[in-house]
Amino acid sequence: MSSTYSNRQYDLARGQLVDILRSRGIEDTGVLDAIGSIPRHVFVQDVFRPRAYEDSALPIACQQTISQPYTVAFMTQLLQVRRGDKVLEIGTGSGYQACVLAQMGARVFTIERHFDLLEEARTRFDELGYNVASKVGDGTIGWSQFAPYSGIIVTAGAPDIPQSLLRQLDDGGRLVIPVGDQGSQTMILVERRGDEFVQGRHAGFKFVPLVGKEGWRK
Ligand code: SAM
Repeated sequence: MSSTYSNRQYDLARGQLVDILRSRGIEDTGVLDAIGSIPRHVFVQDVFRPRAYEDSALPIACQQTISQPYTVAFMTQLLQVRRGDKVLEIGTGSGYQACVLAQMGARVFTIERHFDLLEEARTRFDELGYNVASKVGDGTIGWSQFAPYSGIIVTAGAPDIPQSLLRQLDDGGRLVIPVGDQGSQTMILVERRGDEFVQGRHAGFKFVPLVGKEGWRK
């Protein structure tokens, strides 16, 4: 893209991104439609707007990142979001993932440890018209006030699965979390079936660290 962009150019680029995600195996039409409708360029700093529809993670403030679109799509597909689901996100970051979930009809709760990031994300929620509940805090201990959740998505790399998050998962609910060392993580899907927690594992990913009581210490 050149250095000036029209909405039409962004729309075209967004459509091409959806094609890339489809070609990489994303089949959930709810996920693809959400990514096809949300203006990702609004979630990145001006200097990165020309790259907003590349399938890559990009820097945001506080030395954090907005995740790669493929990663957002893959994790959201694993969650199997249905309209009306109550979903908790840990790691609001730019707010993009929260908007994908809200666009799919979920009732979204999101926690971010950096106040400045959350303030910016809240502005985007308001400007784009998404109703997302959010707070600053340590997401490793969840948000018990609104539990149980039908889905929990952790968008930072954890050393282990926080027990607090498992406790806040509804029966039949799904938790998606990257777990590993700080260099790379395996995407883990946990499905709660009564008192049983069934795990599935998926290919390698790389996230910024989940920092908190039940995460990495600073
Ligand atoms: N989901 C975000 C988006 O759509 O832009 C990207 C998230 S970024 C890869 C990971 C985020 O997790 C960072 O903003 C980081 O500050 C946040 N984070 C790390 N540990 C956290 C914790 N214990 N509680 C809440 N947020 C945390």
